[in-house]
Amino acid sequence: MVTIHTTSGKRGALTVDFPQQEQDLITGQKPSDHCAVVGVISNEQAYGYLVSSLKSLQHRGQESAGIAAYDGSMMKLKKGMGLVSDVFNEKENPISGNVGIGHTRYSTMGTKTLENAGPFVVSSASGYLAISHNGEITNAEQLSEELKKRGATFSTSSDTEVMLMELSKEIAENGVANGMKIAMSKLKGAYSAAFMIDDRLFAIRDPMGIRPLILGKTGNTYVVASESCVMDVLGGETIRDVLPGEVVEITPIGPKRILIASSRVEAHCMFEYVYFARPDSIIDNIEVFETRIKLGRVLADESMVEADVVIPVPDSGRAQALGYSQRSGIVYSEGLIKNRYSGRTFIMPSQVQRTASIKMKLNAIRSVVEGKRIILVDDSIVRGNTMRHIVMLLRKAGATEVHVRIGSPEIIAPCYFGVDMKTKDQFIARGKTNQEITEEIGADSLAYISIDGLVKSIGMPKQNLCLSCLTGEYPVNIPGEKYLYQKDLTNY
Ligand code: SF4
Repeated sequence: MVTIHTTSGKRGALTVDFPQQEQDLITGQKPSDHCAVVGVISNEQAYGYLVSSLKSLQHRGQESAGIAAYDGSMMKLKKGMGLVSDVFNEKENPISGNVGIGHTRYSTMGTKTLENAGPFVVSSASGYLAISHNGEITNAEQLSEELKKRGATFSTSSDTEVMLMELSKEIAENGVANGMKIAMSKLKGAYSAAFMIDDRLFAIRDPMGIRPLILGKTGNTYVVASESCVMDVLGGETIRDVLPGEVVEITPIGPKRILIASSRVEAHCMFEYVYFARPDSIIDNIEVFETRIKLGRVLADESMVEADVVIPVPDSGRAQALGYSQRSGIVYSEGLIKNRYSGRTFIMPSQVQRTASIKMKLNAIRSVVEGKRIILVDDSIVRGNTMRHIVMLLRKAGATEVHVRIGSPEIIAPCYFGVDMKTKDQFIARGKTNQEITEEIGADSLAYISIDGLVKSIGMPKQNLCLSCLTGEYPVNIPGEKYLYQKDLTNY
């Protein structure tokens, strides 16, 4: 057992179980989302629901997993590095309690250590507070300095701990509803969170609604989760999305709104629809799979080329390739096979190993490819290494032409809202012409969907989407970057 820090605790230390396994995790070829969050309140044990929910959200983070639950007198916490199934076993219940939250992480802020893994728990004057957070607080450094001046101490480099300490301070001084309102007016950036005060469970979403968050129900168990696919897995139903700027308390008889921002400018992450979210999820009333099919259709409208077969990059380009095939009338076929047992690219500790791992991961099917003009479809290109390798694979297998079609516009700018695209020089499309990128990946032609085509496919008003990594204009003030809205968005 390890004791974690307390603030002005009204109770003793927490019990925390940290398995001693850590890995050097390295970013892979696709951008990764920050985290998944889940919260459960039930008349049964919350643990099994939490583990199943986290497993169905594993795509949002594979670095660590954690669960905190309140058993009537204590807040218990267990977390570890690795997949949910590495850390938790549904058959055992090491964390009793009817109310709990869970988290899986892929870090974009703070170091990749167990201390920075969620959930975060603190014993405060208001009781035990626990939080699971998806997103990124863009003013975390400034807030942590202010909190330190007022006597707060931090035991990690995570922005989530800053968010928790801010909530802790304001709730202790101003009560639950007012405290949250004040804290949220100070927090900038992206945050969808499951939050607990002892046995009370809350869902919190930032005023721009950058990351998804839904409420659901299965029997007498209420759930808050990053994506609606959780409710299908649990055999329940989605009640609704948590609205941008909303705080909902999830009670044993259902959700109850605590507060909502009086003004908000929505900026839903376009990448959730393009790549991050599970295709079977519905985010802000828009189905992810259907959106990806539409992206493929619009891509075909915008950049048709004569070819014999449409081939997806597995698994990320499948729905877009299907849409492209439907609209173009060109036959769809799997032409690349993915080795599911080759290990995760992102944990490979060197570029050499990562390159070898990519080779191990994909192979071309000669009978589909040989002598054919191919349209190769993927959802996005960030660095371009994988795409270059795939084009080469197809040529080696006998493709006569390879035309690359991408279901998102050129990514040219960093994300500050919880996605691991941080440095400007990593983007293959930044500062290059289409011809230069085409040559770099070795294709015969390359086309990205337009921003208007992307917006049309998602079907949400353009001003309600975050497109910052495509435009370099941000909906919050980021030092050194263009500020899109020129006004404070977090009015409560
Ligand atoms: S910058 Fe890009 S990846 Fe980040 S939240 Fe905005 S749309 Fe999503």
